[in-house]
Amino acid sequence: MNNICYSSCLTLSTHPRIVCQAMHTNNMERNCFVPAIAVHGGAWAIPQADTEASCQGVQRAVRAGYKVLEDGGTAVDAVEQAVRVLEDDPVFDAGTGSVLNYDGDVEMDAIIMEGKELKCGAVACVNNIKNPISLARKVMEQTDHTLLVGHGANKFANEMGIEKVPTSDLVTEDARKTWEEYRKFKKTVDVFFSSRTDAGHDTVGCVAVDRLGNVACATSTGGISAKKVGRVGDSPIIGSGAYCDNAYGAVSTTGHGENIMKVTLARTIISYMEHLGLSAKEAADKAIAFMSKRVGGVGGAIVVSSSGQLAKSFNSERMAWAFASNNSVRYGIDPGDDIDGGAV
Ligand code: ASP
Repeated sequence: MNNICYSSCLTLSTHPRIVCQAMHTNNMERNCFVPAIAVHGGAWAIPQADTEASCQGVQRAVRAGYKVLEDGGTAVDAVEQAVRVLEDDPVFDAGTGSVLNYDGDVEMDAIIMEGKELKCGAVACVNNIKNPISLARKVMEQTDHTLLVGHGANKFANEMGIEKVPTSDLVTEDARKTWEEYRKFKKTVDVFFSSRTDAGHDTVGCVAVDRLGNVACATSTGGISAKKVGRVGDSPIIGSGAYCDNAYGAVSTTGHGENIMKVTLARTIISYMEHLGLSAKEAADKAIAFMSKRVGGVGGAIVVSSSGQLAKSFNSERMAWAFASNNSVRYGIDPGDDIDGGAV
């Protein structure tokens, strides 16, 4: 039934999304689309010792998100749930496991966006929040704003009753050791993405399309070890760390935030799909190649197209990722990986 509906959309117009939305509006047809979801656990030179935990972590998260979609949840519900699982996993640099800034504190950034009305919510430089992605969702749904930062974002978290935790709950032994080592370097960001390819900065993200054909994306991070206090990277910036539009698809990015922002990587990927008619994979590869050539940027992205194509691309040494669709999971971490993770 899903496939029949989607193909009937395709025959009705070269712009299947618009026809499907019209059908939904008329209440003629519902649940047209095959749900699909992808997650990432950061683009960088993930140490061998973290390989197993990273691969397990992304598979756990994609299963949690897929279950939400299978149970009839929205794409927004699914990306929030998958990112919460990643935030709670200490192997990733988001929520618990966040890296430390120059002063040894945790400052986290997160964004969530939906593709129907292009509503978006983001937070930056927040402390003591267990799941920043849920705070970002509150910004999207409970305020007239898109981005809240620092003190204001933390104050809003209190108003919303968002779960707070002591900083010590978010800091892992690994994060503290990395901070001690990287504080020795002055130009932290450059060091991370050039000479020190072993440096950790494993941001997390998720993209999904639900049964109604609505797409969503989410990205969450502790940023980069020993970053300047108050530094905000690409992750909570709409168009850089994430972007989506029901007409084309959804993107979440990871990597060297300063360079990702220079080329607004997430929006560029969607633009290539929109203006050049590229597939999700072609658009992601092209945008990352452009970032590399234009500004020397290192990073990666996951993409889901409106029709449920899943794609990933990265020019870092490794990126942990997992996909779920048609009740099966695939995952990988090294270039060329495409491992069967079995049934959801
Ligand atoms: N993009 C993140 C930042 O620059 C880091 C990462 O993706 O690993 O804050």
